[in-house]
Amino acid sequence: MPGWMDRLRGYFSVDMGIDLGTCNTLVAVRGQGIVLNEPSVVAVKKDTKRVLYNGQAVGWAAKEMLGKTPGTITAIRPLKEGVISDFEITEAMLAYFINKVNGRMSRLFRPRVVISVPSGITEVEKRAVFDSAMRAGAGRTYLCEEPLAAAIGAGLPVSEPTASMIVDIGGGTTEVAILSLADIAVCESLRVAGDDLDEGIINHMKKTYNLMIGEQTAERIKIDLGSAAPYGNEGTMEVRGRDLISGLPRKTVVTAEEIREALQEPVSAICDAVSRTLERAEPELAADLVENGITLAGGGALLRGIGTVIQNATGLSVKVADDPLTCVARGTAIFLDNFELLKMTLENDSDE
Ligand code: ADP
Ligand code: MG
Repeated sequence: MPGWMDRLRGYFSVDMGIDLGTCNTLVAVRGQGIVLNEPSVVAVKKDTKRVLYNGQAVGWAAKEMLGKTPGTITAIRPLKEGVISDFEITEAMLAYFINKVNGRMSRLFRPRVVISVPSGITEVEKRAVFDSAMRAGAGRTYLCEEPLAAAIGAGLPVSEPTASMIVDIGGGTTEVAILSLADIAVCESLRVAGDDLDEGIINHMKKTYNLMIGEQTAERIKIDLGSAAPYGNEGTMEVRGRDLISGLPRKTVVTAEEIREALQEPVSAICDAVSRTLERAEPELAADLVENGITLAGGGALLRGIGTVIQNATGLSVKVADDPLTCVARGTAIFLDNFELLKMTLENDSDE
């Protein structure tokens, strides 16, 4: 059966690994690395919820509209809470990204696609992602659990008979998992992650300064100033927003220390999830982790001091994966090179 048809397909279309994240969608292609990295954002018409089809509706172009859209258009993140809030819009987004990478021939020579999904999503949601991908132009489609892809992308020895632990802190969910023999032994998908850190900052600005700030501003503060533990050279930052009482634009200055305080609650929730997962592990696996430690991935791993607080909470050594934002996508690409691994570990495939 393989042969000329497969060769043609290989020539005209590309196999791709997709990290369908709540904040960012990344696509990795065999032999080419990461070829697409865009926000998981779609612009839609407010009344009809129809996706805008002017080529400006998805990804970066749509993210620029977030919070700044005119009355009739709204930019939404279809995966915001770690679940798929809108199947149709998720599908439109997937279709746009798949076609952007695969080009015109994708209708004729459908790409094989590996998509990583949060381990917390339901069977119905998995089915929906799968169907969306098929309708969006994918050929054979495989779903893989995100923590497994993250661990593989982080270079952990997942297929060996020793435990590895990965904590992937994304935008909408934090995936905590202990893996061994290419399988997930224990995991938890927590709906507390980067978005909640931003929200902590928004609430702090409201409560302390009567200042209303947008999500984008909150994220900027988190990235430029935020931390989970004290760090050297802590500075301050000027923040602009709208005064809640006068309704007028205003600015104020915040310190790293108060922002750390504002982030404390979600940071503790993440630490607690890590501890809970460790408590649920078999003693032999837990023993391995004394040696192997914990690896952090996802954008949230870049929060200053997050490794330190998890280390203090668990007593295990913690390291941040190289390039944590791309771990999952790089992991799915490794799956593409090892389709036999897929057979063992993936949930679903369209096998004829
Ligand atoms: P997802 O997989 O859910 O799409 P990502 O792994 O792409 O999420 O991470 C996105 C999250 O990481 C966002 O909440 C973003 O604000 C956060 N993030 C990105 N860079 C940093 C940073 N330097 N410090 C703290 N948080 C960051
Ligand atoms: Mg992710």
